[in-house]
Amino acid sequence: MILARLFRRKPRSGAQAGALDEQMMDLALEQARLAAEMGEVPVGAVIYHTESGEILAQAHNRRECDHDPLAHAELLAIAEASRARDDWRLSDCTLVVTLEPCVMCAGAIVNARIGRVVYGTHDPKGGACESLYEVLGDPRLNHRPIVISGVRRQACAHILSSFFRDLRARRRAERP
Ligand SMILES: [Zn+2]
Repeated sequence: MILARLFRRKPRSGAQAGALDEQMMDLALEQARLAAEMGEVPVGAVIYHTESGEILAQAHNRRECDHDPLAHAELLAIAEASRARDDWRLSDCTLVVTLEPCVMCAGAIVNARIGRVVYGTHDPKGGACESLYEVLGDPRLNHRPIVISGVRRQACAHILSSFFRDLRARRRAERP
């Protein structure tokens, strides 16, 4: 029992982002920009094989165009990576995402057994990794990924804040 618990306990504190995480975050930011161009809240995600760096999935938020509340960047990337691997277990993979995952996506991360999660900026209104909940660090769940936050934080926050600023300006301009 104790051994089993030790086995499950993965290093969470002191984990650091590597250069590969930063490169992948640049790709996730590129995805977020594509989302913004489509009028979607700009969030982008990349899943790569942690050891080799092979990219398995890239996705962005498609909630508006797909009329689908499940179409968050992380869920789309997880589905794509699982298909690419012919395996639902992604324990040897890293998910890189521009915004702190929500409750739904954190649940999917646990279910996909993703080994590492790297995100850019916090989401004080919906974040389920640190801000509102700590789903990915909850010892009652059977999987706890390594979590690293703050990679390209300013760029990830800026793309969101400028999107919402432009949206507010457009709405003001459209007002009769
Ligand atoms: Zn989400």
